[in-house]
Amino acid sequence: MKNYTIFGNPVSHSKSPCMHNLAFSGLGEEALYTRTLLEDGTKLREVFFEKNLSGANVTVPHKEEALRACDEVDSFARSVGAVNTIVRHGDKLYGYNTDALGFLKALQKFEKDIQTILILGAGGSAKAISVMLREAGYDVTILNRSEGRLESFKEQGFKTYSFEDFTVTQYDLIVNSTSAGLEDDALPAPKAMLVELLSNAKASIDIIYGKATPFLKLSQNYNLPTKDGSDMLLYQGVLAFELFVDKRHSFEAIEKYMKRAFI
Ligand code: NDP
Repeated sequence: MKNYTIFGNPVSHSKSPCMHNLAFSGLGEEALYTRTLLEDGTKLREVFFEKNLSGANVTVPHKEEALRACDEVDSFARSVGAVNTIVRHGDKLYGYNTDALGFLKALQKFEKDIQTILILGAGGSAKAISVMLREAGYDVTILNRSEGRLESFKEQGFKTYSFEDFTVTQYDLIVNSTSAGLEDDALPAPKAMLVELLSNAKASIDIIYGKATPFLKLSQNYNLPTKDGSDMLLYQGVLAFELFVDKRHSFEAIEKYMKRAFI
């Protein structure tokens, strides 16, 4: 029996154990996936070996610390500074980031006619998603409420704005990657700005999942195709599972079982 877990704080809300256990049992793998509340991220490596894990996922707030816990980190995860998937081979830990590719897969299944994308927020998710989207050929702009976090995006050559210096123009897709609306009723940007953006957009996505956020509700007023973060969550999980089982099962087979966690 192989053991896997998700590390986070908090972690009790995580859907990952349900998703992965459905796929393990559906595909006949002898494995158990649990959740681990980890308060001190610097203990991740120690706890990983104590629990004799074969692999793990990592959620807020330990994705940066997870990168430091690994012996080898894949080039994309290193470029965005965050690891959400760890696989053990022998005594070595290998780190990956499947969040951003999960977002890209969700987007490609959702809307085909997108070229320009405005990402609201400049946190860890925005960082991973923006780099992946640009690599995939999209024209990406970042809008954040404050200047501080925009610095690293500027260094990477992204067009960046804070609310103060932003002038609304047309973007095909508006993405909320902030935590506004997660535990409050906040919109991710001033309402007048969002109304102008959404009324000219082709689609919108909120990466928060399982909840009709104020941003999603506002988008629906403009008859836009809108989507929450459930598919991103599903696909980052499928991609992590592929790494756990060394691609012994196809993407579609894993997706078939994991999807049942969302019914
Ligand atoms: P971070 O804490 O790294 O970044 C938060 C960002 O949100 C910052 O840019 C911050 O702006 C902005 N922000 C926070 N509150 C507000 C507000 N009231 N108004 C405007 N901007 C605000 O978060 P992450 O990037 O790690 O996560 C963001 C969200 O993505 C979370 O809600 C999380 O649940 C979700 N998520 C979903 C995933 C999925 O699979 N679907 C995967 C990963 C994350 P400032 O710089 O000004 O503070």
